[in-house]
Amino acid sequence: MKAITQLMFIFTGSLAVAACSPHSDNEHHATEHEKEHQVQLANIAELFNKSSTKVAPELVSCTLSGGTKTECFSVTVTSLQTEHKTGPWCPRNISDGPEKSGIWLDKGKVYDADGQFIENLAEFYKDNEWELFNPETGEIKVTDSKEACMAAARPDVAEEYQNYCVECQPSYADENQQITYLIPAHPVPLDKAQRMNPHSGIGIAFNGVKFDAPAPVEAILGAHTLAPFDDCGGHVNTHVGYHYHAVTGCTKEVETLVDHAPAIGYAMDGFMIYSRLNAKLIEPSDLDSCRGHITDGIGYHYHANDAGKNQIIGCFQAEQGCAVESAIEGDNQSCEASGRRPPPPRRQD
Ligand SMILES: [Zn+2]
Ligand SMILES: [Zn+2]
Ligand SMILES: [Zn+2]
Repeated sequence: MKAITQLMFIFTGSLAVAACSPHSDNEHHATEHEKEHQVQLANIAELFNKSSTKVAPELVSCTLSGGTKTECFSVTVTSLQTEHKTGPWCPRNISDGPEKSGIWLDKGKVYDADGQFIENLAEFYKDNEWELFNPETGEIKVTDSKEACMAAARPDVAEEYQNYCVECQPSYADENQQITYLIPAHPVPLDKAQRMNPHSGIGIAFNGVKFDAPAPVEAILGAHTLAPFDDCGGHVNTHVGYHYHAVTGCTKEVETLVDHAPAIGYAMDGFMIYSRLNAKLIEPSDLDSCRGHITDGIGYHYHANDAGKNQIIGCFQAEQGCAVESAIEGDNQSCEASGRRPPPPRRQD
């Protein structure tokens, strides 16, 4: 009960901040507003595991995807953090079972990407060009170096890396890489829902791991490659490190309301993301196309999709903040979500 009372305070606290104007000339009002933000920042620091956030959350100015100049809170994480075990991803032999393999998400379903699945790919995708294994030994071709994982995850996969199981180790990511998420402190609702930006992704889990945009399954399969996710719905690219394409219940869950699903993180537009199901395994029946709804006591929020959908939420109902990747300490908080550079010309698995 204590936890729920505290959290009601968190959520009513953030709602109170949302009602204030950040550009008030009224000094008294501005002071109240700052105090409310101090409470909000303390609550956010509490929500994110301290071991994964590198710098304490701060309030910074930012320009959102729709051009609104406002306030965002920053959460800075390194790409190296892992709060749970990661992997396995690719099995090594077609005889390997699900315990030595990750999962694959396709057509709304979650499949064990085990040896048998890999053996049957030609049949599964009705395409005889699939052959990820040596038919004599059963050995599966897996990218086994940083160079191989990068070469196999380009938009035009080199011939020699077609028909590979693509697996990048967490150690391949740059250890100096850090990502700062700038999340709107006051969500700015849109008239029309917005698709997610493939560069910023969907949001951030309370363990500091990115909730990424859908994995580019068509491009991956087009090169006869498979880039499995671990049982937590995550895998690694050298660009952002370990990230999720599905929610499978591996991350910190925060109970908020009785009979409601727990909170698991923030979406890039400042609304929170909750698990798909509540403790009675019931999914809300009134979700909009973005997978959001309004509940008394929480306001508008999203519920994560079924893992097989490869799309954690459907779209955004408010202007998005941004994620800034930087290997340099310091100058990484000047988010200009509206004037963002185009996504880099690489396939981001
Ligand atoms: Zn404010
Ligand atoms: Zn809900
Ligand atoms: Zn990915």
